[in-house]
Amino acid sequence: MDITLSSDIKYLKGVGPKRAECYNKLSVNTVKDLIYHFPRGYIDLTSCTPIKDACVGEICAVAGRIAKKLPPARIRKGMTIFKAVFTDDEEDMTVVIYNSEYLFNSLSEGEPIILYGKISGNLVRKEISSPTVFKIDASKTMQPVYPVTEGLSQTLVRSTVQNALSLINDRIYEPVPKDILKRMGLCSLAYALYNIHFPPDEYSMRTAKRRLVFDEFLTLGLGMMLLRGRNREKTPNKLYSADLKEFYKNLSFELTACQKRSIKECVDDMQKDRPMSRLLQGDVGSGKTVVAAALAYFVFKNKKQTALMAPTEILASQHYDTLREFLEPLGVKVGLLTGSVSAKEKKILYEKISAGDIDVVVGTQALYQQSVEFCDLALVITDEQHRFGVEQRASLSKKGENPHILVMSATPIPRTLALMIYGDLDISVLNELPKGRQRTETYAVTGKLRQRAFGFIKGELDKGRQAYIVCPVIEDNEQDLKSVKSYANELSQNEFFGYSLGLLHGKMKPKEKEEMMLRFKSKELQVLISTTVVEVGVDVKNATVILIENSERFGLSQLHQLRGRVGRGSEKSYCILVTDSPTEECKKRLKIMSKISDGFELSREDLKMRGPGDFFGSAQHGLPKLKIADMSEDMEVLQKAQLEAQMIYESDPELSEPHHKGLKAIIKELFERRYD
Ligand code: ADP
Ligand code: MG
Repeated sequence: MDITLSSDIKYLKGVGPKRAECYNKLSVNTVKDLIYHFPRGYIDLTSCTPIKDACVGEICAVAGRIAKKLPPARIRKGMTIFKAVFTDDEEDMTVVIYNSEYLFNSLSEGEPIILYGKISGNLVRKEISSPTVFKIDASKTMQPVYPVTEGLSQTLVRSTVQNALSLINDRIYEPVPKDILKRMGLCSLAYALYNIHFPPDEYSMRTAKRRLVFDEFLTLGLGMMLLRGRNREKTPNKLYSADLKEFYKNLSFELTACQKRSIKECVDDMQKDRPMSRLLQGDVGSGKTVVAAALAYFVFKNKKQTALMAPTEILASQHYDTLREFLEPLGVKVGLLTGSVSAKEKKILYEKISAGDIDVVVGTQALYQQSVEFCDLALVITDEQHRFGVEQRASLSKKGENPHILVMSATPIPRTLALMIYGDLDISVLNELPKGRQRTETYAVTGKLRQRAFGFIKGELDKGRQAYIVCPVIEDNEQDLKSVKSYANELSQNEFFGYSLGLLHGKMKPKEKEEMMLRFKSKELQVLISTTVVEVGVDVKNATVILIENSERFGLSQLHQLRGRVGRGSEKSYCILVTDSPTEECKKRLKIMSKISDGFELSREDLKMRGPGDFFGSAQHGLPKLKIADMSEDMEVLQKAQLEAQMIYESDPELSEPHHKGLKAIIKELFERRYD
């Protein structure tokens, strides 16, 4: 039968239905999947080491032949050792194979082979244990090592991939236009696909990889741009210019230049035929909420509604309070809709929302999950801290007629990455903090200094300030939670005896959490001991110290978010990072924290240190997964691919020209499952 890229893997020679099931476990279902099942590494056989030069402890490839197979030795039940003498005609060594009679039998005396493995033994006699065995014609190559699963051996996958490639080799369509390949100095797709599996040397492998990485970034970037375009169908919510003077007058502070600029960018967007689709990116404490409030006011002046969605109930009710403060004096009606609002209240709210009696609705996921109907929803704002996916955003948008969208994100990330992750959005950046803010002093200490730190905190409390103490807890781990409870108890009975302490953790009911937060905000509580639930956006200006226990458990960006809970007013603030088991890596991380206070700079450091996993986990963003590219490692290719994507998009926004046909097909496949 004729094998094509879309053929089921089971039709390939040597596969069959049984092995196909094993492949399916690796998400390899078709011939194409197999070809895109890239090696996770390579065994370098480009140069073999003569036995006399192979050092004990090293991993080597040695070429030679089996001189003599020795009789197997049964050590104990279920353990047989097979040995053979291996020679390269200059020196010999012993091959040791544990238990695998199959491997031993596959070796025949006199046949030239290559053994790859770790050299052991001693100066007198070298050994190689359980080596990987290659035919001699594999010499001078790089042998791919694949992710495998039970029932599939490396050898098997290798030969199947080889076979698949030879069958479809001349049918690989080149999706990237020639001029781009030329400009970027990239090899052809056919070359890349062959050489990513069977490169003759390291250089070919890198050349192949670069091409495949480029393709991934190009299609992802372009796909996001198309998505943005698709969301830009005409909107009936084209708004009229309105005077925001009243709003500014009601504020107790002057907006920063970047807040003003961001408001202007959004207001301009909303006066166009196409809906706004914008990301407001700002470091912790940069004042995103007031921007949201200004826009809600603008929409109100246009006699339409705004929805603001927050990731937690605590945050939703905080936004609710803030918006009321900014907006109610101007006659704007604000409502709060969360999961813990009673059924009766909800019903009333629903009615008011659908009648247009509420202008701004603040809430959690409850906003879109429930049967909420808006009277005239024109603006959807999500404060997401990377917690909502593209789909969730979209489903809230459906509550209006192609409404304007603003996404607020507190994780400052480099612009290129933001473009990739939020490629469907335009970007506004708050890159300066409000006036009068002081840099939060950050200290990393070991547990030995804990008492002193507590003393310092008490000093702040005595000045009338408040403090957070954060303990990392895996929320569903009862043991952990218990220890936080006893920690809190201990503190209130000893070090902080006579002070008022509260405990906040994720297992509490939303109502209880909210009450606890309220007691802290109203200064009834002086110290809030908390698990990481406090991480998200909580704003209490009077809090000036945060102490973080087990700070080694957090990544840079998370520590930065936590630290952002203080230093939100004009008072000098402090962040104390406690750790008892500082590894080198952890020390380095805490040192960076003490040195750098700018979120954008920190996120670059974070990327360098830990890769993008932490906040770019693609699942969180609903982005297609990257197979081979790495956002942090392949930065240079990422930037160039993004530029090329931009140029393609500008010249042919529908990808309707024939030379974009291939790209269009790939993107369709890539995004289909997620966005339809
Ligand atoms: P974030 O960007 O982290 O969400 P918030 O919107 O919670 O920040 O704002 C942090 C604090 O700064 C709030 O208490 C807010 O009232 C205050 N704030 C915002 N803008 C300004 C400004 N221009 N001048 C002074 N304070 C401001
Ligand atoms: Mg916020």
